[in-house]
Amino acid sequence: MTSFDYDLFVIGGGSGGVRAARMSAQMGARVGLAEEHRFGGTCVIRGCVPKKLLVYAASFASAFEDAAGFGWTLGQRSFDWTKLIAAKDAEIARLEGVYARNLDAAGVELHRCRATVAGPHEVRLAGNDRAVTAKHILIATGGAPFVPDVPGAHHAITSNEAFDLPHLPGRVAVIGGGYIASEFAGIFNGLGAQTTQIYRGKLFLRGFDEEVRLHVAEAMRARGVDLRFGDDVAAIDREGDHLSLRLTGGDVLAVDAVMYATGRRPATRGLGLEEAGVRLTEGGAVEVDGFSQSAVPSIYAVGDVTDRLALTPVAIREGAAFAETVFGGRPTQADHSDVATAVFTQPEIGTVGLTEEQARAEGPVEIYRAAFRPMMNTISGRDERMLMKLVVAKDSRRVLGVHVVGPSAGEMIQLAGIAVKMRATKEDFDRTVAVHPTAAEELVTLRDPVA
Ligand code: FAD
Repeated sequence: MTSFDYDLFVIGGGSGGVRAARMSAQMGARVGLAEEHRFGGTCVIRGCVPKKLLVYAASFASAFEDAAGFGWTLGQRSFDWTKLIAAKDAEIARLEGVYARNLDAAGVELHRCRATVAGPHEVRLAGNDRAVTAKHILIATGGAPFVPDVPGAHHAITSNEAFDLPHLPGRVAVIGGGYIASEFAGIFNGLGAQTTQIYRGKLFLRGFDEEVRLHVAEAMRARGVDLRFGDDVAAIDREGDHLSLRLTGGDVLAVDAVMYATGRRPATRGLGLEEAGVRLTEGGAVEVDGFSQSAVPSIYAVGDVTDRLALTPVAIREGAAFAETVFGGRPTQADHSDVATAVFTQPEIGTVGLTEEQARAEGPVEIYRAAFRPMMNTISGRDERMLMKLVVAKDSRRVLGVHVVGPSAGEMIQLAGIAVKMRATKEDFDRTVAVHPTAAEELVTLRDPVA
């Protein structure tokens, strides 16, 4: 019998890799893990966690405005970016320590270096340039921001750098129409920067329910973001102390920072995967089956590097399913259906299941909708409405999709997600007594279909 240095070697210490490594070690496997940057990966170091902290910081702007209607008079306001970033950094360092300690406590051997695949059972560690062998290799290297080849693109930053800017730029252009671009537009705007978001398509947040996209666009504009759709960057030039952004539509914008958030690419380059026989998709993702196994039976991949659903809880589920399958003796596939998710735009989106457009393509539906001013916005004077929408299958009465825009939408959708996952019907929603007074009660009091 061949003996290996490890039962499992994991490349990448992010959401998926850490979960797989810990669980496998707890099941008795000898596990090694290499991380070239910081433990915790994108989510903890430069993704979900610092992003949400910045969203909290930005949300005080509207809270201060709303406070006046409730009788408050606030004094001089000022915002200290350096203080926020230092506090964010301290929290991330704390979390990184927790991740490393948890791995260590589970008995995972940690290598703080880059690792590449040298064969179906061999991993090369850049740290001390040696090779180790493993019965199984798990690729969990995540992804990285992609910046298109535009003249002057080197002047631009991505979300990676946005978290560590030395100053809050006075004027920012965010390029892209996905959730990261839209969230950052809200962050910069809330913190007081003059913010323009530029997206080449007709409407941002492609893939989300169209009414949700329109609702958020209107609300973001009302909050002061200059949203420009159907336009793109032709070139970026440095002019003295600022950047000049030439747009394909002809406009020229003077800004202090340009942030590209035009998608992310799987981090597979130079990993030695193809040489080892692993098949990659055209976009560079590791091709895997439902059990996250690649074309080479001993090599698996989870998380963003597989380009399935690029979300932390999904990477974690895939990592757990891998451990169950390979070391737990229970073949398990991660379930990618009806994954509830939030977008921390301002206002926030919570969504689960099918959009109206997707559901209509599958069969007859009924649409239940309410767009209303939440109680908070009555005496605050904020003219922003909340959107609640249920997409219901006409025949089975199943609630196929729930879409919420407004305060705490992300929190609400986690719970609505359980109902959708349990295949609840519209009548199940109706039988549920409302919690009053809340905004969420609208979800169980939508009486008549609007379409
Ligand atoms: P990662 O977390 O990216 O981890 C991969 C790790 O591998 C990294 O630490 C990297 O340094 C390391 N690595 C790469 N190559 C090597 C190598 N050769 N050797 C050694 N180490 C290597 N998801 C949500 O669910 N909710 C959110 O609100 C959310 N917000 C986000 C905001 C931003 C700005 C970004 C960028 C992402 C956000 N995401 C969010 C997505 C989420 O961060 C990812 O889906 C998740 O981190 C994927 O986990 P992963 O394990 O696949 O990869």
